[in-house]
This record gives sequence, structure tokens and C-alpha cells, in this order.
Amino acid sequence: MKLCGKSRGEWFDLATRKKDGGTIYAFHVSDQTSGKWLLNVRVSSSGEKSVVFAATSQKTGIVHNQIKRKSIVFNACSCGEHFYHPLGISYLEGERLRSKRVEKLDDVPEEILETFEIKKHEDVSPKSSTQLKEKLVALVEKNDVKKMALLFILEKICPIFKAATRRVTT
Ligand SMILES: [Zn+2]
Repeated sequence: MKLCGKSRGEWFDLATRKKDGGTIYAFHVSDQTSGKWLLNVRVSSSGEKSVVFAATSQKTGIVHNQIKRKSIVFNACSCGEHFYHPLGISYLEGERLRSKRVEKLDDVPEEILETFEIKKHEDVSPKSSTQLKEKLVALVEKNDVKKMALLFILEKICPIFKAATRRVTT
């Protein structure tokens, strides 16, 4: 994974329906199974939010195209030093890309466990949420944009293509 660009930008935040702006980082990722990707990490200048999504992919199969419509959101934790993201591990239902929240460490992919500090939503979020109660979140330092991009890969891309590889080889 390689940082290939950094620029100022403005965008429309779909969640708040407001204009936002900040810094956009672009990362090139090359994966043996799923091909090349260009990931964008948009860090809001408010310091309260960051979003990662796949801007382009070299391959354009049905799964790749669904992954490009996903994004993962990081919000500021209550201590103010981290961003947290409620995990949503991708899986396929037929050809439809879905994702699931997790409550048990056993359900978190190993690479995510090894790389990220994992907490429960209610222990790090300044806001309580019935929907996210007991759900696991990953923490990153607020300035670690590369790790945010990595989480997108480990959460949205790897679970799908690893499963595909296993199906082929067994
Ligand atoms: Zn924190």
C-alpha cells in the first residue's frame, strides 16, 4: 500500500447532508487476488470524522463494483485521541455484497485483531446507540490515515476474496 497523493478538497457529507472539507489522501493497493485499487481517505478538517472508500479498481467484476459503493466511517472517540469505526465484515449472499456487525472477538478476522485495538462501541463512543450496543469497533490514532485505508482492505475486500480463493483450492 503506497500513498500516492494528498490534496485539499471539499465534498458533500451524505450522513449530515452538509458540505464538508478537509484533506484527501490517495493510496494505491495491489492485491494478488482482487487486483489493483485506488483508495481515498477523506479526513474532515473538523477533526471529527474520516471516511474511506475505493475510488477505482482495475478489475470491474460484480463484487468489485459493489465494493466501490461501500465506505467506512470513522468518528472521534470520547477521549479525543482516536477515531473508532464499528466493524462491518463483508460477506457474499449469492452475488450480493453484504456486511455484518460483530459482537465476539472470534468473529473478527485475524488480521484485524492483530493490527487494531478492538473495543465495544459503548466504551469509546461519546454517543450511545441501541443499534451499536455491544458491537465491536476498531480504534486508530486520529492521524494514522494509512491504517484507516488498511482497515477498508481487511474489512471489505479480504473477507470476500479469501473465501473465493478457499473455494477454488479445496
Ligand atoms: Zn480514545
